[in-house]
Amino acid sequence: MKTNPTSPSWDQVVAALEAWRKALREEPARGQGAAGPGSEEPAVSTVAEQYKRDPWAILVSTIISLRTKDAVTLTVSQALLQKAPNPVLLEALPVEEVARLVYPAGFYRTKAASLKKIAGILIEQYQQQVPATMEELLALPGVGRKTANLVLTEAFDLDGICVDIHVHRISNRLGWVTSSTPEQTETALRAVLPQQYWKGINALLVLYGQRLCRPVSPFCSRCVIRPYCKRRGVERSR
Ligand code: SF4
Repeated sequence: MKTNPTSPSWDQVVAALEAWRKALREEPARGQGAAGPGSEEPAVSTVAEQYKRDPWAILVSTIISLRTKDAVTLTVSQALLQKAPNPVLLEALPVEEVARLVYPAGFYRTKAASLKKIAGILIEQYQQQVPATMEELLALPGVGRKTANLVLTEAFDLDGICVDIHVHRISNRLGWVTSSTPEQTETALRAVLPQQYWKGINALLVLYGQRLCRPVSPFCSRCVIRPYCKRRGVERSR
């Protein structure tokens, strides 16, 4: 795992990504324009806004979001949170009912079991509150670094870098880091990315990865940060 020895112009890269996202929000009807198809924010960000940064809502939707499409994550999160807006109400539901609500999210039975256990732990150990430290979050069933970082940043406004497959892929393509796993990418980014950008980089790159810097054949011809990109590992592009 290595970091890039030469720092890119972070301000310019982030400004270009933010301008692209702003255009995407303002021109949803266009859809297929410079920003690419679709216009929605990552589901967890939408849930965070809808539920006024409620840590329980963010933790629930983050767990549901693993290996699940945004549209499904959003619908499932809203349905589950309507029935279980706090750990006590979720704990009271039978696990089969939780699984039914989490379906069709991927691994719905496993997620339902984790959510039930988490609700019990929060009730027993944390006065029904979601803990606000990386260590405590990682101790909860089904919570990895990606989930913990997302909860810390979205719910508690703390510094963290949430690295999913999009952030991992794009950071390597851009040449910011050279790493094999999202965990390595998180460590490498913490060393090179200015801290002021830690919290926001996930939402920017996830959306960019879904719309333009796609896994197999990225839309490099429409990319707003191409001048800053080393295009490492990109064999085919559009
Ligand atoms: S130039 Fe291509 S590979 Fe680089 S960030 Fe843009 S879309 Fe991704």
